[in-house]
Amino acid sequence: MSAATRYTDATRQAVTYRAGRVLLAGDAAHIHSPAGGQGLNLGIGDAMNLGWKLAATVRGRAPEGLLDGYTEERHPVGAWVQGWSDAQSALGRPDARSAALRAVVADLLDTVPGATYVLKQISGVGRLHGRVAPDLVLDDGSDLARHCRTARFLLVTRDPGLVARAEGFADRLTVLPGSPAMLVRPDGFVAWTGEPPADPFAHWLR
Ligand SMILES: Cc1cc2nc3c(=O)[nH]c(=O)nc-3n(C[C@H](O)[C@H](O)[C@H](O)COP(=O)(O)OP(=O)(O)OC[C@H]3O[C@@H](n4cnc5c(N)ncnc54)[C@H](O)[C@@H]3O)c2cc1C
Repeated sequence: MSAATRYTDATRQAVTYRAGRVLLAGDAAHIHSPAGGQGLNLGIGDAMNLGWKLAATVRGRAPEGLLDGYTEERHPVGAWVQGWSDAQSALGRPDARSAALRAVVADLLDTVPGATYVLKQISGVGRLHGRVAPDLVLDDGSDLARHCRTARFLLVTRDPGLVARAEGFADRLTVLPGSPAMLVRPDGFVAWTGEPPADPFAHWLR
């Protein structure tokens, strides 16, 4: 299959994704070269981050600042993707110096540390906090990923005290037996992991 289309490597990002009641997501918030094929994914990530925050705000259940967290969390991701896309555009230039640089990068990608670095950057694996929840097998044999489909908050813990503190949020939060302890947001991102903060739900639930 072939396609006849035109596009450029124009790269732009809105300074903020929120101005009062106006919220930007997807290509309205950021554009960049299609190189690397990340634009659509970036927009879906915006929508997932924004959707549950907007719903909580509309229902009057959002803690102070929850909606502002949308720009705080997604703007750096957009800037990061644009950096990678810019780098790929630079590597794709047809001049001799860019060809030499491509050869050097290709050599680096042939090394284990080089390939590992790129894979970690693209897949986002590494530290858990602020990342998509890993697919843990829980104590009851179920997969954490399956529970993420419910779009509820998920609290993974073996601590009965923490379970008791979560009872007030039972309409929006599911407690799951397992380790490491973590709070997973409705968009599947880890709010915290390991030692719970002093008020484990304060930033997320009201
Ligand atoms: C050649 C090419 C290849 C790509 N390949 C990939 C890829 O492999 N992987 C990837 O993740 N991304 C890819 N992308 C990027 C991806 O296509 C975009 O990031 C994505 O489509 C943006 O989605 P969006 O909904 O934010 O915006 P859009 O898809 O632009 O949707 C906006 C919609 O709003 C409508 N609209 C505009 N103004 C108005 C108005 N005033 N009233 C009502 N409706 C309006 C438009 O008609 C449009 O339907 C590629 C892009 C290009 C150009």
